[in-house]
Amino acid sequence: MSFQASQDKQAVTVIGLGPMGTAMTEAFLAAGHRVTVWNRTAAKADALVAKGAERAATVEEALAANELVVLSLTDYDAMYAILGPATAALSGRVLVNLSSDTPARAREAAAWAESHGARHLTGGVQVPPSGIGSPGSSTFYSGPRDVFEAHRHTLQVLTGTDFRGTDPGLAALYYQLMMDVFWTTMTGYLHAVTVADAHGITAEEFLPYASSIVASVPNFLTFYTPRIDAGRHDGDVDNLAMGAASVDHVVHTTEDAGVDSSLPTAVLEIFHRGLDRGHAGDSFTSLIGTFRKPVA
Ligand code: NDP
Repeated sequence: MSFQASQDKQAVTVIGLGPMGTAMTEAFLAAGHRVTVWNRTAAKADALVAKGAERAATVEEALAANELVVLSLTDYDAMYAILGPATAALSGRVLVNLSSDTPARAREAAAWAESHGARHLTGGVQVPPSGIGSPGSSTFYSGPRDVFEAHRHTLQVLTGTDFRGTDPGLAALYYQLMMDVFWTTMTGYLHAVTVADAHGITAEEFLPYASSIVASVPNFLTFYTPRIDAGRHDGDVDNLAMGAASVDHVVHTTEDAGVDSSLPTAVLEIFHRGLDRGHAGDSFTSLIGTFRKPVA
């Protein structure tokens, strides 16, 4: 199906046509935006061109086509690889960088873009490609507020927008905070699935129980948040000694099942460091102090 572009809609350039950039281009096309695309592997644009996107022959042409340029690349190195040789074409462009990287790299890139006369908005997309164009999806943004406000409406074609502030590193920071929770949680889940499997329990059988423990997490977060912000780690509800004994049981259950125990052992080692600092009677939230001041 080919889409009809509307004259009232802002035209956009999308550079980077991995699964994300492809989904973004499709969402813009479906919403009636004219879209110019460029990708290192040119063939990835073919299906999009068939749907109405315009193919730029060069990066310079892609930049010249539109003020608003969405970057969807593996990381910021890819951006430098693509835009580095085309800096003369950057002046006056708004780069909406929806590639993941660190806050420091986002700040560096914003300064680099400004030095070439472009404005830079950092983005952190919180959904997979299937969530692009869906209501309820969200992307963190940070950078110049006027640039964000000027393009907010167009960017909302992709996902909802959550402006975190003018520091270009903030969107990347919030994204990485989310990834911190996501990867740690999902790796814990995979570990439990492996132990379950060693006992002949399938992932399907484990699903309701895994879902139940994950669903209980927001209650814990809500309970501990005001205490954490107040710097209170009272051991009235839980204490680190009890937590360490519990994690120790997980380590031994894992070893007894013949499964790699390096993940719960790493958690146990962190708990022990808290105990060594004298926090046996405090809540496990006192581990924040251990994270803050790692042992040299
Ligand atoms: P991919 O890594 O699959 O796509 C990367 C794009 O970057 C491709 O267009 C690729 O070009 C290009 N690229 C990579 N390295 C270079 C280079 N050195 N020079 C030129 N082009 C390069 O990523 P996705 O599309 O999945 O995701 C894009 C961004 O969105 C990533 O930063 C990712 O972290 C983030 N994101 C992804 C999510 C997901 O579920 N996929 C979820 C949330 C965020 P080529 O086609 O030629 O290889």
